Amino acid sequence: MPEDLYEKTVTLLNQSRNAVALTGAGVSTESGIPDFRGKGGLWSRFDPYEYGTIRAFLADPEKVWQMLAGLVKITDAEPTSGHEGMAILEEKGLLTGIITQNIDGLHQKGGSNNVIEFHGSLDTFSCLSCGENHSLAYVKEDATPPHCETCNAILKPDIIFFDERIPDIVYTQTQNILASADLLLVVGTSCQVEPAARIPYQIYNMGGKIIEINKEPALNHLAEITLQGNFSTVINEIVERLA
Ligand code: ZN
Repeated sequence: MPEDLYEKTVTLLNQSRNAVALTGAGVSTESGIPDFRGKGGLWSRFDPYEYGTIRAFLADPEKVWQMLAGLVKITDAEPTSGHEGMAILEEKGLLTGIITQNIDGLHQKGGSNNVIEFHGSLDTFSCLSCGENHSLAYVKEDATPPHCETCNAILKPDIIFFDERIPDIVYTQTQNILASADLLLVVGTSCQVEPAARIPYQIYNMGGKIIEINKEPALNHLAEITLQGNFSTVINEIVERLA
């Protein structure tokens, strides 16, 4: 990979007043979490319409928990040096925050503070009957499927199913951080899932610059710089070049 692209990346990061990252499955694969949509991923084993919708959950929560039980296990994954590198960018004031489509909590484990979990997280579980919240620790200790401590209904993870809207509060937080963004790092995502897929276009149309970091680049038409490679390798190369 030509070295000057990294120099140019560092220059853009230094020049930017508000750089934001949008991340996806590609930042988690090196932590052992296969891309849900890829070969061997979650949706190759479970039909997303039968297991990935709130409609399916409400109809038969026990069935959907056959899929969720495996999903909860991804919370045991460990962050990579790439996640830590992104936390360093934040610490140095070069990255304002991260909008992630992932639900594995790896950015926070890697040290990032300002993380918007666009598709929710597996940190908390709600009871749809009485509204009580439960922690991941509680769910891990309880049987599968886990039941509400208060009313015994089956719990739902606070993730966004395919047929659910992004909650207003998350959408507002996202728009707030993007409002003044002048640089977007698109990392480990081919930006195929709406509405997150619109974010690069939003920044581009506002006159912001885009740096794409992907194994298989998908945003050549928008990106000022494309860094092709593994997440951790590319992030570490960037961090090494910072003064
Ligand atoms: Zn309850």
